[in-house]
Amino acid sequence: MAKNIHDVLILGAGIMGSCTAYHSARASLRPLVFEQFAKGHANGSSHGQSRIIRYSHGDGTYLPIMKESYGLWDELEKATGERLINKCGLLRVSTSEVIVKKYAKILGEYGAKHYLLKGDEIHKAFPHFHYRDGWFGVVDVEGGIIFAENCMKAAQMEAVRHGAVFNFEEKVEEIQRETDCVNVVTNKGVYSCKNLVVTAGGWLNKVLPGFNTFVHTQAEQIGTLYWTIKSNNEQFDADKNCPVVVIEEEDAKMFMLPPVDYPNQIKLCLDECVPIDPDHPLDKMPEAMQEVVGRHISKYIPDVDGSKPSKIDLCVYTMTNDSHYAIGKYPTDPRILVAGGFSGSGFKLAISVGRMLTDIAQGADERATVPELFSLTRKRAGKH
Ligand SMILES: Cc1cc2nc3c(=O)[nH]c(=O)nc-3n(C[C@H](O)[C@H](O)[C@H](O)COP(=O)(O)OP(=O)(O)OC[C@H]3O[C@@H](n4cnc5c(N)ncnc54)[C@H](O)[C@@H]3O)c2cc1C
Repeated sequence: MAKNIHDVLILGAGIMGSCTAYHSARASLRPLVFEQFAKGHANGSSHGQSRIIRYSHGDGTYLPIMKESYGLWDELEKATGERLINKCGLLRVSTSEVIVKKYAKILGEYGAKHYLLKGDEIHKAFPHFHYRDGWFGVVDVEGGIIFAENCMKAAQMEAVRHGAVFNFEEKVEEIQRETDCVNVVTNKGVYSCKNLVVTAGGWLNKVLPGFNTFVHTQAEQIGTLYWTIKSNNEQFDADKNCPVVVIEEEDAKMFMLPPVDYPNQIKLCLDECVPIDPDHPLDKMPEAMQEVVGRHISKYIPDVDGSKPSKIDLCVYTMTNDSHYAIGKYPTDPRILVAGGFSGSGFKLAISVGRMLTDIAQGADERATVPELFSLTRKRAGKH
């Protein structure tokens, strides 16, 4: 009997797999997606209500991709009626003027709307943030919140509407490379395809055990911390005057989002992780991490209770050595396309990653589609 060879199979239904399903279904590739867990699970990187979206990056490569992503999210928002983005602005504050000016320069070179603030100007612009002497800021005017759960729902809904199929609770156990196709063996069956897209997040090295010889990736756990607002609640309203904030205080890097996930609680996390095996995650994070954040809150955001987090969620980052992503054809088999190593910052441009993978699956030239910075065979760059 002739094999049923699918155009595209997708391994993993996080935001990357879901956006790839969205684009490839629209391109009539009839994708079939395997996800080891149930719909809406919280074991990977893409769950929860909110993430930061921004033009502001330390490397200019990201900005044109962000422009495309903003446009594609907007299209998806219109198609589904889901609210996906709130451009409440992104305030980047640092004790280093050099760092702030570097980000401002890149925004300026790309023509992204921004302005600089210094010392007391930061507190005057955003009275609930007490960053004054010794602090420098740059506002990325079009930065803000991307509503993660709504994006997942919208991408999957539109993918299905265009013919994609999602098989939840079906785990891929083996990838077999045949001469005429790639076989995917799951706990429920065997499927064949022309192109397999691997968007396995922290499980990338488990499903493609040789992957680390190209780009080193490591699953890491991060604690998502929430803190209760005690006073001046209206100041923290993203629909009024509360931006998202990225904070660089000497060695500590933190990020803050206005209350979206839980009422009356901001999200403020230390951007530090602990390496893990994603099949055996930790059940709590080292307390020292939350103490750093609590001290910062008490000093600079006194309307918020910094004595202890009101809630802690756990989530997985997949880090690469240089914090840049890994997107493209698997070097030992060009029928396998990979997108991974999103290093705690990939959600906002997943919709462009899905477009890139779909283009490659349709025969587009990989080098013209994916920036060299993300190539699986790139020379190792420094941290950004
Ligand atoms: C706390 C936190 C804050 C973040 N903040 C931001 C932010 O502000 N802005 C931003 O843009 N990004 C942010 N990110 C990063 C962003 O969320 C991730 O880059 C993105 O969600 C990665 O998606 P993914 O699809 O690659 O991985 P995942 O969501 O983990 O999806 C991979 C999927 O593959 C499935 N899978 C793996 N192996 C198998 C198998 N064998 N068979 C079947 N299925 C399998 C997994 O179950 C999983 O569902 C943050 C991440 C975290 C954790």
